[in-house]
Amino acid sequence: MTEPNRDELLEALRGLDDPDAGAPLGDAVRGVAVRGGKVAVEVVLGYPARGSIDRFEQRIRACLEAFDGVEAVSIDLGTKIATHAVQGGLKPLDGVRNVIAVASGKGGVGKSTVAANLALALAAEGARVGVLDADIYGPSQPRMLGLTGKPGTTENRRILPLEAHGIQAMSIGVLVAVDQAMIWRGPMATQALQQMVSETLWDDLDYLVIDLPPGTGDVQLTLAQRIPVAGSIVVTTPQDVALDDVRRAVAMFRKVKVPVLGVVENMSTHLCSNCGHEEAVFGHGGGARIADETGLPLLGQLPLDAALGRSTDQGAPSVVADPDGAVAMRFREIARKSAARLARQAASTSIRMPRITISD
Ligand code: ADP
Repeated sequence: MTEPNRDELLEALRGLDDPDAGAPLGDAVRGVAVRGGKVAVEVVLGYPARGSIDRFEQRIRACLEAFDGVEAVSIDLGTKIATHAVQGGLKPLDGVRNVIAVASGKGGVGKSTVAANLALALAAEGARVGVLDADIYGPSQPRMLGLTGKPGTTENRRILPLEAHGIQAMSIGVLVAVDQAMIWRGPMATQALQQMVSETLWDDLDYLVIDLPPGTGDVQLTLAQRIPVAGSIVVTTPQDVALDDVRRAVAMFRKVKVPVLGVVENMSTHLCSNCGHEEAVFGHGGGARIADETGLPLLGQLPLDAALGRSTDQGAPSVVADPDGAVAMRFREIARKSAARLARQAASTSIRMPRITISD
């Protein structure tokens, strides 16, 4: 029997589709070794993928077993989250590998709901995560994550984040009285936010999700310029009026050279809490249209779901309140897709191909 050709196996594996990244596996396939009918492969995904790792393993196995002469397959499938580039001239934050900014063109579209659930979904996928609530005019994260108590400080006056549902969190809402912050003018607001960003002592985070203030005004633009962001996500509802705001948000990030990872369409459909029927009350395909027009991926669509709003508003977002439910699964898919797209941006850094061997 002829030994399977290593290069052919490598090429086939590299061409396997990674649905989270929307691209082939490519360099995630770090090595293939062949001896007789035995094949060993090492694959390292650049994003947390607990929810799709089993499926991946099955597909890799099926791909290899389709080749003549392959008798036994061993797969080493892991993840490694790297630090990605930020806007030119900025230094990454201490203790944070990647900042993901969640933005919206206007208020009330569910930006904070998406930020809270996305952060918890990234954690459920296996990452170390923090949330920074920079929504100065209406901080929602203390309520959504059920944050209690005041943050501690270190000897050299760094602020220690609070903990909730296994993630770290800090909000302008736990540092200053909300009615006081509401009347701050632009420069004061940006200064306070920047201080919170630079003085919080995060503990070894893969991702810091920042809930930005809604809109595309001066405060948002300044934050997008000064916070070292690796990628941003824009949240919208499907109505045409909301889409104009998305265009503005995308243009703002492009102007400050922050990559936009994609668009999340919230309240896409109505999920009836009696019969489970799903209906597109606000019309179809707004998010898809905007994605098409801007060349951005549509990372996911979320239903208008009473349980999602209620549980998030009561301090236990759906991803932790109902971790096996359909909404949690959608958020986890959005989390994997966002992180996978972020991982692909670092593709330029050279990846070493280790030599792996088979031992009996
Ligand atoms: P934003 O941050 O854009 O101002 P929020 O996330 O605070 O919006 O959401 C506004 C309100 O809508 C909140 O009460 C929230 O619970 C609710 N909400 C958001 N998304 C959904 C959804 N998909 N289904 C039901 N309620 C939602």
